[in-house]
Amino acid sequence: MKIKKRKLFRTIVVLGGLFFAVVPIFAVHFGLNGNAQNRGDELVQSIAATMVKRADANVSRAMQILSEFALLGVASCDPLDLAAMRRAVSAQFVVREIGIVDRNQKMVCNQYGEGETFEYLAAGIANAEDKSNLQLVRRSGSRENQIMISWPLASGNRLVAFLPGEALADDVIPERMRGKGVALVTMSDGTMLYMAPSQRTARAVLPFDRRTFSVTVTSPKYPYRVAVLAPFDVVWDDFSGLYRNLMIGAAALFVVLVGFVISFLRRKRGRANEIEEGIENGEFIPYYQPTLNIETGELAGCEVLIRWQKPDGQVLSPGSFIGLAEATGLAIPMTRALMEKVAEEMSDLHEKRPALKIGINLFDDHFENLDIVEDIKSIFGGTHIKLDQLIFEVTERQPLTDIERARVVMKTMREFGCRVALDDAGTGHGGLAYLQQLGFDIIKIDKLFVDAIGTDSLSAPIVDSLISLAEGLELEVVAEGVEDPRQVQYLREKGVKLAQGFLFAKPLPYEKYKRLIEKMMPVSQNPEERRRASLNAQFRADAAA
Ligand code: C2E
Ligand code: CA
Ligand code: CA
Repeated sequence: MKIKKRKLFRTIVVLGGLFFAVVPIFAVHFGLNGNAQNRGDELVQSIAATMVKRADANVSRAMQILSEFALLGVASCDPLDLAAMRRAVSAQFVVREIGIVDRNQKMVCNQYGEGETFEYLAAGIANAEDKSNLQLVRRSGSRENQIMISWPLASGNRLVAFLPGEALADDVIPERMRGKGVALVTMSDGTMLYMAPSQRTARAVLPFDRRTFSVTVTSPKYPYRVAVLAPFDVVWDDFSGLYRNLMIGAAALFVVLVGFVISFLRRKRGRANEIEEGIENGEFIPYYQPTLNIETGELAGCEVLIRWQKPDGQVLSPGSFIGLAEATGLAIPMTRALMEKVAEEMSDLHEKRPALKIGINLFDDHFENLDIVEDIKSIFGGTHIKLDQLIFEVTERQPLTDIERARVVMKTMREFGCRVALDDAGTGHGGLAYLQQLGFDIIKIDKLFVDAIGTDSLSAPIVDSLISLAEGLELEVVAEGVEDPRQVQYLREKGVKLAQGFLFAKPLPYEKYKRLIEKMMPVSQNPEERRRASLNAQFRADAAA
């Protein structure tokens, strides 16, 4: 159980630390890359879409010119028709040339009356709807491919218009992509119409050394498509500064958290191991703080207070280690070791002194199951200490995790004759609810409230109400942290019988407590001498104040 709990705690801290160390790095990397990727995809998509739209509009414009000519009967190489063609060409920038092609695919004339032959690069793609025909051609004496749009005439000849690639889709590539990205216009059969920038510069740009954005958009109206490719840098330039700064931050966080995890493991390991070894080496020892009957001055017993006696002789108070023992699941083995020591040291002293009690502090963990009851039986069972001489203290300072289980554990302890005390009563979490639900025999009024006695006003309302509460529930009362004779006076008047505090004694190591017991409670003497011994003790205690 303790090992499991400790491991779980450590695992949570380590995994949590590593998680938060690594996540920002991945978040920055994938987050910014994803963002750049999206932006790049959008960029090429919008360029390609705009190019297609522009090309479609230009082709439509050319078609319109041809259909109007067919309607108006501009269908020959006559000077009048040529003049009409020249007018149409100079009226816009897309169509550079208009002319007539005969049945043998020979160009009879253009708007200047010049004939020419040209090479068909691909089969024409007819548009059944408007009888037009769109074809990729290469003009003689030119390296440039052009689109030739033709319109059938009644004579069997065709009216044609030529559109150079660059006129189809120029100026669409944004400034930031110049010298970096490439746009290609290809006919639907794969033959290339146009490439921007020129093939030569494109070759210098391609292949891109990193990831590439690419998209192909097919014209919804005409048989060509536009592909746009761009290197990652096109957009990454916008992100690289931010990326570097965030990465530095994430890396710094990584270093800090990993450092934290390592030092946590070292320290935690170190301290926890130290406690574990301390338990094995018997370094945790009991000190005994006497409890006195302030009516009779007799010794009533003690509270066991743990101390860590280091190999170097140093004695540590519980405040410096019980928190860690609890957090690392070592509280239970530590208490077990302590009880074994108490059993060993106190057994003979308690044989003939049945009135002497021993108070032992328990942790929240002890109330998880009945193991503590087994421990008590096995540790004290074979000694002269009777189970009804034992009192187990449960602090009110920290809440119990599971009240119902605690109730069962306490009930079982009481069935075996042990008694249960509510420690630090008045400080906090349980209060009246604890008293009602858990079944205590004793309440120990915390020093905080006892301190209120003996100050200017000789009244201590909380002490008073705790005392009357205890009376009502028929509980024994112990006043803790008594340092002043006036407090004893007050408590006596209120009917409190038991008290503990520096006024009487500090927590004592075994030898000293043993001597105190033997002095205050001699066994072999007659009752009269015993009474005198306790009066002596009381006198000394009062005098010490
Ligand atoms: P606690 O159970 O309330 O014990 C009383 C504490 O008050 C002890 O401190 C004791 O030395 C101190 N004390 C007693 N009389 C006076 C007084 O007149 N004046 C002043 N100023 N202090 C007084 P200690 O030994 O340092 O223990 C502190 C706490 O550590 C204990 O408070 C208890 O909660 C815990 N503790 C000690 N030993 C054990 C143990 O074996 N098991 C568990 N679970 N807790 C322990
Ligand atoms: Ca206590
Ligand atoms: Ca206490």
